[in-house]
Amino acid sequence: MAHLEALLAEIDRQATVLAGEVVRLRRDFHRHPELSHEEERTARVAADYLAGLGLTVTTGIAGHGVMGVLKGGRPGRAVAYRADMDALPLEEGVESAWRSRAPGVMHACGHDLHLSIALGAARLLSGMRERLAGEIRFLCQPAEEGPPRGNASGARGMVAAGVLNGPPAAAVIGLHVAPQLDVGQVRYCPEVVMAGSDHLVLTIQGKAAHGATPHRGVDAIAASAQVLAQVQAVLLHEVDARHPVVLTFGKIEGGARFNILADRVVLEGSLRFLDERVRQKVLRSLKRRLAGLSQALEVELDLATTDIYPILKNDPALAERAAAVLTRVLGARHVQAHQPAMGSEDFSYFAAKAPAFYFFLGVRTPGAKGEPLHSPLFNPDEAALPVGLKASASLLAVLAEENS
Ligand SMILES: [Zn+2]
Ligand SMILES: [Zn+2]
Repeated sequence: MAHLEALLAEIDRQATVLAGEVVRLRRDFHRHPELSHEEERTARVAADYLAGLGLTVTTGIAGHGVMGVLKGGRPGRAVAYRADMDALPLEEGVESAWRSRAPGVMHACGHDLHLSIALGAARLLSGMRERLAGEIRFLCQPAEEGPPRGNASGARGMVAAGVLNGPPAAAVIGLHVAPQLDVGQVRYCPEVVMAGSDHLVLTIQGKAAHGATPHRGVDAIAASAQVLAQVQAVLLHEVDARHPVVLTFGKIEGGARFNILADRVVLEGSLRFLDERVRQKVLRSLKRRLAGLSQALEVELDLATTDIYPILKNDPALAERAAAVLTRVLGARHVQAHQPAMGSEDFSYFAAKAPAFYFFLGVRTPGAKGEPLHSPLFNPDEAALPVGLKASASLLAVLAEENS
């Protein structure tokens, strides 16, 4: 215990010393954002930085993924830390000296902060490696924002490449910045953190005819109205109201001309769920209702589903241990337990493979509005960087201990 106390005190001191370094890294990444699967420069900077610290570095994992392995001087467990590093196709609306220099690309999801915190933690912990236990793997992940538009998830690819294997990771840690939470605060969920999601494509096939003679065809647009009503009815009448689930269609396409009956309508949407049984129930009910409608309306109805992300779950025992560490290093007033959210995140692929802890780092300047993620006005408070650094380095050092 005394050993851990001394280690945490040293991490606390070093997090303050390295605050400026992490800000410098963050501004560099912010100036040079890269889209999913195009993180060439970002990955190179990260790999060079980790190699410069003496870590064993592997590059080109699942595209531009990078892994840096830090071996402690004492026996212990393998723990992994994931930082995503891609940006979004947005024109930055915030003026600063470190404004994006890539036209139409912006770090609007805070992955520049995630990566600089990871590199800062690698630097901090490499400075005390003899006192550390086990092995710490820093995973710089490409393409978190990629799916579903034909882009493979970077997390899925890195897990498939074996970054959590041999020796298997006893814990994998990740964080996301949270603009609705004041800087200085962190938030975590005891178990379910974020929704799983499916991409749905619903095709309604009718029969074209002249607009003047609808009885000679089958109107796919008219059918789509009934289909949408039935879809909503599933959520209203067939799902236990205590189980959160969201089904929204964000795209509809059909028809050629105002006086031709549309023969085909395609709807695209997403299903989000916090419980696998709810997902299966909704899909079963949808298929049953669509089969009935197909007969009643004489249209062909096809529902194709592709899973995008699994449900993101923290390991309950690890979450309890991690929350105790966060409380110890940040103070109880700064750590909140929280409800799951209906968004999704591909960290869920890591969490499906190893015990996981994912938490949220407040980046809102107190009193400010806190522009949301994916907004061109997203403007996180950099005072969150040393908080994220201290939290992350402390978690890694403690969880790598044999008996943690
Ligand atoms: Zn995002
Ligand atoms: Zn993100």
